[in-house]
This record gives sequence, C-alpha cells and structure tokens, in this order.
Amino acid sequence: MNNFENIKTPCYICEEELLENNLKLLDYVQKQSGAKIILALKGFAMWSTFSQIREYLQGCTASGLHEAKLAYEKFGGEVHTYSPAYKDEDIDEIAEISNHVVFNSPNQLFKYVHRVKEINPDASISLRINPEHSASPKEIYNPCGIYSRLGTTLKNFDEDVLNYVDGLNFHALCEQGADELEAVLIAFEDKFSKYFKTLKYINFGGGHHITKKGYDVEKLIRIIKEFRAKYDVEVYLEPGEAIGWETGVLVSTVLDIVDNGMNIAILDTSAEAHMPDTLAMPYRADVRGSGEAGEKKYTYKFAGNTCLAGDIMGDYSFDKALEIGDKVIFEDQIHYTFGKNTTFNGIKLPSLMIKRKDNTLEIIKEFGYEDYKIRLS
Ligand SMILES: *Cc1c(COP(=O)(O)O)cnc(C)c1O
Repeated sequence: MNNFENIKTPCYICEEELLENNLKLLDYVQKQSGAKIILALKGFAMWSTFSQIREYLQGCTASGLHEAKLAYEKFGGEVHTYSPAYKDEDIDEIAEISNHVVFNSPNQLFKYVHRVKEINPDASISLRINPEHSASPKEIYNPCGIYSRLGTTLKNFDEDVLNYVDGLNFHALCEQGADELEAVLIAFEDKFSKYFKTLKYINFGGGHHITKKGYDVEKLIRIIKEFRAKYDVEVYLEPGEAIGWETGVLVSTVLDIVDNGMNIAILDTSAEAHMPDTLAMPYRADVRGSGEAGEKKYTYKFAGNTCLAGDIMGDYSFDKALEIGDKVIFEDQIHYTFGKNTTFNGIKLPSLMIKRKDNTLEIIKEFGYEDYKIRLS
C-alpha cells in the first residue's frame, strides 16, 4: 500500500494483475462453456487496458455511437451496438463499424434494418427481448421492471422481425448469480423459444457477477452448455462490472477535519461526482483499514469537497486518529465510476493510473480546468 503514499490525488488506480485474474476466469468460462464474452463499455471503458483485455475477450458491447466508435478504434474485435433508440444522424456510422446491430423494438428494427444492411451487408441483426422476469435487486437497475422501455415484450413481438434477425438479446440481471440467470432463462425460453429455430445466437446480456467470490462458475458453464446443445445456437455474455470488479481503488486525501456533532473529514474527492453509484444504488464503499462507525476507536464521516450537502461517502472508524494529509483508499472503484464522472461544482476529475504487474505506477491521464470548461459555454 505504501507506494500509494506519494501520488497526487484524487486518483483511480487500476491494477493490471487484478484485471488479468478476472480476465482469466472469464476466459475459463468461455473455454469450458463455448460462450463468447464481450466487454460492456458502460461499466468499464479504460481503453489503455484494452490491449490486455483483447487477449481474452472477443470484443465490446456499445450503447450507441460513441461507445461503438471507442470499441472500433481502441479495442478491435467484435463491435455489438445496442441503443434504446437510434437516430437518423447516427445510424450510418453505427452500421459501418458494428458487427452486430441490436434493436430495442420491432418499430426501430423495421425503420433502420434496410439502411444498416445496405451499408454493411455483413452486419448481424438482433432484437432485444424483455423476458419480463424481474431479478434485479434495485428498481433503478431493473430492465424488466414495470413500464420498462428496455427490450420487446412477447406482447409487442412482431414475427416479421424473424425475416431479419440472426439472434435475440436479453439483459435482465444486475450483480447476480447463476441461479438468477437460470430463472430468467426459464421465463425467456417459455415465451420465446418457439422463435429460436432460425437463430444463430442468443445474447444473455450482462449483470453476471462471475468474478465475485462465491459466484457459481461451474453452474454458469453448465447452463450455457445445455442451452447451446438444446437450441444449437451460439451464446454471448456481455458483462461490464465483472471485468472491472475489484481491480483497483480511488485514492483521496484528507483536506480538513471539522467537528459538528461528530468528526467530519473533507476529502479531495466526491461521492456525487466520482463515486456516483454509492449515491444512486446506494451502497457504502469499503475504505482500506477501516471499520463500521464506532467499531474502531476513531470515527469519521467522510464527505466530498463540493457544496452539495449530501455529498457523503458514509461513516468509517479507524484505530488511529486521522490527520490532515492522510490518504483514504476507497476499494473497488474501477467499474461504473470514471465512465460516469462529472465535473460538478468544478471539482477536478481524478487522474487515471495503472499499477503494472511489476508494481510500478503509471499515470495514464490527468485532468484539469480545461476538462471542466470544455463542456460549458
Ligand atoms: C449495462 C449493460 C450490460 C453490462 O451490465 P453489467 O451489470 O455491468 O455486467 C450489458 N448489456 C446491456 C444491454 C447493458 O445495458
């Protein structure tokens, strides 16, 4: 840990070796199950790691033009593009660079499929299905919840799409295990397996928490193998979180400690701007060396350096009193963080670093005033 002492903060540090461990496990799933795994850029898009990821994964899944361009430029391999709705001004470029174009509704598919095929006759076409099986633990992350716009329900399925599609996609999970996948598949097969005969592939979406300790990898492999054998289709998985899961930290510095009923440490980072899921989900990020409030001798509320009152990370306790200038290390902050960051309140974006396998730290990117200014006018 001590080699984080001298770095400039705030800073995300992605550890190559931890990323490699995740990739190896995902590759094991690919090899044993025959599925192809692609990276969902929404959850992790630090492109300076793509050459490493490319050794294991087949490509990327993109949610629109910009992610598709990043996949095409920086990753190579297969580009799968899905968007809740495409726009006229984007569709040509998307068609040009995508191997798979996934539509959200029959309406969008009929509107754009001819244009896509004209530009890229090899593009594989798919429709996203809503299997209407809610598995997600939180409504904000539940693509199959009530009134969801994401995916086509059986009621809205138009059999004419079968003239165009090579596959079907669903995405129904969020940080979940193989048991939940099994339950979603029962609902999905029950409603849609009658349409599988002419298909080449089924994409099981993301939300598979494969790299989390305790995930039943062997069960996942079994499910995929059985599914492939039963329907003679290829299977894709497109996790995001599972790639970046526990691959690094966000390091910040204590700027001041104030006392208002309890000790409050003001850090040079922000929950709102730099750890948005801690407020949206919400969840409490682990801090290295800390306990719950009151568990150890010295308890602090950690707060961000913005003027939002609710910019709070939570309460943490330590064996030793904190001092101004101390580093605070938030664990597991590599997925769904810098891809969602903002410059809210003018706060500086954390730099991006990579810890190489030989333990050297490399600064990949530093941000400043221009990054704030450029998005305003
Ligand atoms: C967000 C998303 C993913 C990745 O989900 P994770 O929870 O990060 O694994 C995959 N596919 C689609 C369509 C998504 O929206």
